[in-house]
Amino acid sequence: MTQDQFASEKPERIDRRRFFYLAGSLGLVAALPSSVWAGTGNYEAMLLYCIDPRIVDAVHDYMDQRGLRGKYSQFVFAGAAVGVVAPAFGTWETTFWDNLGISARLHHIKTVIALDHRDCGAARIAYGEENVANPQVETTTHRKALAEFRRQVGIRQPDIAVETGLMALDGSVEMFT
Ligand SMILES: [Zn+2]
Repeated sequence: MTQDQFASEKPERIDRRRFFYLAGSLGLVAALPSSVWAGTGNYEAMLLYCIDPRIVDAVHDYMDQRGLRGKYSQFVFAGAAVGVVAPAFGTWETTFWDNLGISARLHHIKTVIALDHRDCGAARIAYGEENVANPQVETTTHRKALAEFRRQVGIRQPDIAVETGLMALDGSVEMFT
C-alpha cells in the first residue's frame, strides 16, 4: 500500500464511523442499508480491565473459564473501574460511558464486568500510596471504587447488569456485590 492510498483511505473510515454514530443517535439505524449492520449482534457482556501488562492474559483466561470467549466486547484503560470513578482521572469517564453506550447499542450486551487488580499503579496515582499500602486497605479502596462504579452503571445504563471484582496478580478474582 502506498502512502497516498493510506492517506486517502483514512478520512473515509472516519466518515463512515461518524455517520453511523450520528445516525444511531438520531434513531435512524433502521433506515440504514444492511451493509452498516456489520459489527452488530447479541453478546453477553462488556469487560472493563486495566492496561497493566501483568494481568492481560489472566483476565482473558478468567473470561474463558466463565465460558465467555467470543461473547464479550472490551474496554481497557488504566485502573479499570478506578479510571471511571476516580476524580483524579477527570474526564476519562466520558469516554467509558460513551463506549458502554455504543456496545449496548451494537452488541446488545446484558452485563458489564469490571475487573480491578491488586498492585495497580493507576489506583496508587488516583488514591495515594496510603490507600493501597497493604492488602487490607487496598481491598477497601477497590471495594469503594467498585461500589461507586456499580452505582453509576445503575444510573446511566439501568438495563445492564453489573459485576465487579478484584484480581490478584496470580489471576484469582474476588467478586464484590
Ligand atoms: Zn492497573
